[in-house]
Amino acid sequence: MTHKFDYDLFVIGAGSGGVRASRIAAGHGAKVAVAEEYRVGGTCVIRGCVPKKLFVYASQFSEEFEDAEGFGWTVGETSFSWERLIENKDREIDRLNGIYIRNMKNSGVEIFQTRAFLKDAHTVHLVSEGRDVTADKILIATGATPFKPHIPGIEHAITSNEAFHLDRLPKAGIVVGGGYIAVEFAGIFNGLGVETTLLYRGQKILRGFDEDLRDGLMEEMPKKGVRLVTENDITSIERKGENLVATLKDGSKLDAGFIMYATGRVPNSHGLGLEAIGVKLKKNGAVEVDPYSQTAVPNIYAVGDVTDRAALTPIAIREGQAFAETVFNNNPIAVDHSVIPTAVFSQPELGIVGLTEEEARKQFGEVDIYKTSFRPMKHTMTGRTEKTFMKLVVDTASQRVLGVHLMGHASGEIIQAIGIAVTMGATKKQFDQTVAVHPTAAEELVTLKEKWK
Ligand code: NDP
Repeated sequence: MTHKFDYDLFVIGAGSGGVRASRIAAGHGAKVAVAEEYRVGGTCVIRGCVPKKLFVYASQFSEEFEDAEGFGWTVGETSFSWERLIENKDREIDRLNGIYIRNMKNSGVEIFQTRAFLKDAHTVHLVSEGRDVTADKILIATGATPFKPHIPGIEHAITSNEAFHLDRLPKAGIVVGGGYIAVEFAGIFNGLGVETTLLYRGQKILRGFDEDLRDGLMEEMPKKGVRLVTENDITSIERKGENLVATLKDGSKLDAGFIMYATGRVPNSHGLGLEAIGVKLKKNGAVEVDPYSQTAVPNIYAVGDVTDRAALTPIAIREGQAFAETVFNNNPIAVDHSVIPTAVFSQPELGIVGLTEEEARKQFGEVDIYKTSFRPMKHTMTGRTEKTFMKLVVDTASQRVLGVHLMGHASGEIIQAIGIAVTMGATKKQFDQTVAVHPTAAEELVTLKEKWK
């Protein structure tokens, strides 16, 4: 490698994409350094997927206690300590943060705990250290940050970042938005006993998801206690003592202990000196890259949420890996973003892979639809009316399964395995040839006979 620069690779951002890229590049012999201004691990590990999933587990116990009765259990008085949950969650996040740091150091990656920005295409300024370093290649892996709309009193509202550190759990809360984060947190707060309102500006939550899943979740969430308010929005927020008062578009007012905005995330591309050196940004601030994650400046690359291709951890990891293989192992890899299995940890949970019915009709014309909705076996004993829903979208001509959409217990786990079949291009016949696992919910996926008319 070159000796003209201090490093072969300098990575800005030690999240999922940056960590993977730096470790793989170092493994191929590159001299690598990373700058991280917050904590190594990034959004997913520190204040995203991981603590969120721990909170989801915590919030599900209330329902489990109730359901136990139908199976003969008597559960005594229960109580919940938010403080203990936070303490235990923080300990686990510290542990993971430590592992990330150790793994990077063991790979030979140097870590700078500082904000960094580019002075030119090869010079990185390390803010806390007050000095410059140079690198042959630069990788921007700075992720994204929660967006809050500009309305009067917005400073009183929190985002998912702060939700992980609330010092107490108020009696009532409002979650604004209708995407992944909003529905997940509405379920969490509701399960932990907060009177939760999910406030969405549109008619139906989860825009872009299959219509049946959107309808299904909107039917199920209120059954569990979430108050769903649609086609309304907050126009201003006022603090009244301990409480917040939100004034809505229709003039009504809502009181809450917290208001959490989950109204999308914006790429962290500003203040990095990118535009000045010729890196192109999209209108929303996302760094423009080619299929190999290369920007308009040839030695500068970008991966993960800052590129806004698919804002998901496993995608950032793949992009980071592909970048390192391409640039440091002479093994060009372009990440395929066409089939992405994903889960929404709403309650009930969703699992999705491939095309929605609407997308499939647009791309393939004629499609066969198979769907089923049933009461899961467990709830025959609990009395709950919760439904499990499953849908296959099949190309009529080739019989290839184009999309699978699930709602119900363990949908995230199921869709990971189904994702293999869909990625391989499995046909409906091959699904049908697969022996069912009985009794499970997932067996429905291989026993769906009747086309939906
Ligand atoms: P999303 O883009 O998924 O959803 C944003 C929501 O906020 C939409 O419902 C949108 O409404 C609404 N909204 C946007 N702007 C405003 C506004 N000014 N006023 C009121 N409402 C507004 O973003 P999230 O923040 O939920 O999540 C960000 C990304 O993080 C996701 O896209 C996903 O990729 C990733 N993620 C993945 C998870 C997983 O895999 N389980 C979990 C959490 C996050 P509208 O639909 O009308 O535009």
